[in-house]
Amino acid sequence: MDQIINDIDIISPEEAACETVKISKESNNPTARKMYIESYGCQMNFSDSEIVTSILKKDGFDTTSSYEDADLILLNTCSIREKAEQTVRHRLGQFQTVKKRKPEVLIGVLGCMAERLKSKLLEEEKIVDLVVGPDAYRDLPLLVGQAEEGEKGVNTFLSREETYADISPVRLNSNGVTAFISIMRGCDNMCSFCVVPFTRGRERSRDPYSIVAEATQLFNDGYREVTLLGQNVDSYKWSHLENNKARLEKEGIEDVVNFAHLLEMVAKVHPDLRIRFSTSHPKDITDEVLHTMKKYDNICKYIHLPVQSGNSAVLDRMNRTYDREWYINRVDAIRRILGEDCGISSDMIAGFCNETEEEHQDTLSLMDYVIYDFAYMFYYSERPGTLAAKKYVDDVPLEVKKRRLQEIIDKQRLHALERNQRELNKVHTVLIEGASKKSELHLQGRNSANKVIVFPKEQFKKGQYVEVLVKECTGGTLLGEAVK
Ligand code: SAM
Ligand code: SF4
Repeated sequence: MDQIINDIDIISPEEAACETVKISKESNNPTARKMYIESYGCQMNFSDSEIVTSILKKDGFDTTSSYEDADLILLNTCSIREKAEQTVRHRLGQFQTVKKRKPEVLIGVLGCMAERLKSKLLEEEKIVDLVVGPDAYRDLPLLVGQAEEGEKGVNTFLSREETYADISPVRLNSNGVTAFISIMRGCDNMCSFCVVPFTRGRERSRDPYSIVAEATQLFNDGYREVTLLGQNVDSYKWSHLENNKARLEKEGIEDVVNFAHLLEMVAKVHPDLRIRFSTSHPKDITDEVLHTMKKYDNICKYIHLPVQSGNSAVLDRMNRTYDREWYINRVDAIRRILGEDCGISSDMIAGFCNETEEEHQDTLSLMDYVIYDFAYMFYYSERPGTLAAKKYVDDVPLEVKKRRLQEIIDKQRLHALERNQRELNKVHTVLIEGASKKSELHLQGRNSANKVIVFPKEQFKKGQYVEVLVKECTGGTLLGEAVK
């Protein structure tokens, strides 16, 4: 068993904090024009790349997993931290050799970096032909046509209505079992550190009936888990009378589908379809949502509830609109309604503007209170144009930020192990997602609380539910054996 622990995929907190990249898959339509799409950052971006692919497929493109073979190279970018943007610029540099060899290849930058820098990006990165923001993807065929004629294509218009509700995403990098469904776009919160409200625009919710239709189609296609995605899912609000949230609230419309209602609608698609969601905002998560989670076995008992900091003064500077006590109250509600087994994870930022040593200690003590199963941990990276960049000085020295982050990571490592050790000698229902990446003789899947569980393959198959008795664990993974 020890060797298995060494062989399987263990996601370290450091890895989790790294930027992930996803690449389009190889298709087999030899006559089509080829597009290559590489996606950075959050799950919303990966989900958007599936919408982009769908739009371009209708325009005669097919995907390739090799940028060398592509007629169109797209980078769907992230602006959340400076490092994410540097990675994209470095990647564009690497594409220069392709452009030299094949000058007719078009290179496009999509997503948050496109939105943030707009046409400035064309001046700074000469090889770029297209700059397209997250609400302008329907315009891509037109912009590609324009670029083919030698004219650079730019559209960074931010919409108050666009949800791409009618577009059926082309699933990329899919395991055929789990899929993401975008339920809303944009964000109306103005967390002072965050660039998202500027790059993804105002919050708007997608028609719930189109969400249920997508979940039903996925179930019929063999998928067994959907994750409902939004920057702040708990503030989901839709009415057939108005889909712009600000106007919806202003006009006092009462006939509204809220997030708890939506969860229930999707849970009813089929008891064998698991539902997850991300991200929950501590200010908005309601007891109604927690009770809905409890009512349906197929709504997974796992909540990503980013705290960012455990100190109320820092939270105030971050403009998170809750304080430490409020956050603790929400965690207590989760434990009261859903019990100790519910997984809770978080995002944390070390070294935000003016953060003192005592304030940092409050983050560590909050971690001791909650004992998170998992966390994405970052040090603060100032983003141009944000409220914090305008109002505060980024005055915590880099080495102090890094040291504080390391303290957070070290604590989280212990807590993840502690939470996993609770699962030893218990039987868990696992949805099998496929082979363990490092051992063909093992399968892996997740339990309701989102913990990765690895077990011997035997006769089991991807997409099945199996009861697994957990016998060993690391901080990242549980190991067990299927029980009949
Ligand atoms: N909407 C989600 C929420 O409010 O929890 C988070 C979305 S953001 C894409 C993901 C995470 O990136 C945030 O929770 C935060 O921890 C981190 N982040 C955002 N801006 C950052 C910055 N300027 N520096 C460091 N980390 C940042
Ligand atoms: Fe950014 Fe805050 Fe919106 Fe999350 S809730 S996307 S951190 S502004």
